[in-house]
Amino acid sequence: MLSFRTYLLSLFSGVRYLEKAVFNLDYGQLRLVFHALEERKQFIDNAPHLCHALPCMTPCYGWFETVYYWVGLKMYDLVAGRHLLHLSRYYSAQESSELFPTLAQKGKDRSLKGTVVYYDGQMNDSRVNVSLACTAALAGAAVLNHAEVVSLLKEEGTGRIKGARIRDNLSGEEFNTYAKVVVNAGGPFCDSVRKLANKDAKPMICPSSGVHIVLPDYYSPEGMGLIVPKTKDGRVIFMLPWLGRTVAGTTDSSTSITMLPEPHEDEIEFILDAIRDYLNVKVRRVDVLSAWSGIRPLAMDPNAKNTESISRDHVVCEEYPGLVTITGGKWTTYRRWVIVRWRGMTGRTRTCHEPKNPVRHTPFNQKKKCFIFVFC
Ligand SMILES: Cc1cc2nc3c(=O)[nH]c(=O)nc-3n(C[C@H](O)[C@H](O)[C@H](O)COP(=O)(O)OP(=O)(O)OC[C@H]3O[C@@H](n4cnc5c(N)ncnc54)[C@H](O)[C@@H]3O)c2cc1C
Repeated sequence: MLSFRTYLLSLFSGVRYLEKAVFNLDYGQLRLVFHALEERKQFIDNAPHLCHALPCMTPCYGWFETVYYWVGLKMYDLVAGRHLLHLSRYYSAQESSELFPTLAQKGKDRSLKGTVVYYDGQMNDSRVNVSLACTAALAGAAVLNHAEVVSLLKEEGTGRIKGARIRDNLSGEEFNTYAKVVVNAGGPFCDSVRKLANKDAKPMICPSSGVHIVLPDYYSPEGMGLIVPKTKDGRVIFMLPWLGRTVAGTTDSSTSITMLPEPHEDEIEFILDAIRDYLNVKVRRVDVLSAWSGIRPLAMDPNAKNTESISRDHVVCEEYPGLVTITGGKWTTYRRWVIVRWRGMTGRTRTCHEPKNPVRHTPFNQKKKCFIFVFC
């Protein structure tokens, strides 16, 4: 049920996760980076018209920082292995200002020593989403838009979930649909679907709001992003070229779950403030052409002993017979979720049905018609 409300532009910026993996000796984070880098390459190979490699510049204002980022980004290259897009490399301050003319050479008590440029991916998420829905329809899935699951249908006696009642939000009409397995991929809303199965279900989503703003094209050059993994007050900030403009972000703060999240003025100021230190152009509030907000579905495994653990990886669980919840994770790794689920449900390891290329093939089984795509 991938939505367009996440407004994702980057196909995995895993540098900070790699840093956490190394410093916290966190295997989970390392696995996330590894999987995401593999999927990033697969995305670009599968849909080169919608996804591409993007060089991203990391500015260094001290020699220690230069060595630190150079080593860190070489490790990022190493973890990517054969899925590497291009090797990262160091550029002098002079070369960097030619590549990124708006990058500040001097700041308060500091001057640019150089930059390390590495490659990440960028994709047009809404168009990839539409492609996936169209591919599913082509493979026989029933795809609905503006439709909402309002209740779950249970088998009498066993209580196993056997389908869902759907409301067409345009006409108001309601109807039942039946399936061998109902997959709850409601993102930040997946707890409300779980509550349809059991009104006492413990929440597993910890929503985090992410705001992006659009600035004029002159803020950044075409074809080069700017990423600061850690600003002086510990924030991650980026500026990416996007459809002839510059997108800057992001925030990561706890929020409540709503269908129409809105960016707040303090969040916009927060982003402007963070990029101001790195640019030689005047960063002004009036330059903000638009701003929007999305909700990251950070997930806790409801069966996990340690409820403190909130992961950026996905969580798949079948707490109620017939209802599988799949949530959390990254857009970049969505294909892997499907494969994990497919293997779990069919008990098969790789088969000829397995979705190698998600834009052209989907795992939706035409004969069993056991999935339904619903967007609301
Ligand atoms: C600001 C921001 C930046 C991000 N940046 C990145 C990034 O750089 N790289 C990356 O890989 N990922 C990124 N993500 C994460 C990524 O977008 C999400 O992990 C991904 O969208 C999750 O997909 P999903 O299908 O689980 O949920 P969603 O995409 O949220 O989709 C859930 C869908 O379920 C629908 N729904 C809810 N309730 C019902 C119901 N009762 N009936 C029917 N439908 C329902 C919703 O309307 C929605 O369409 C970012 C997210 C945000 C918010």
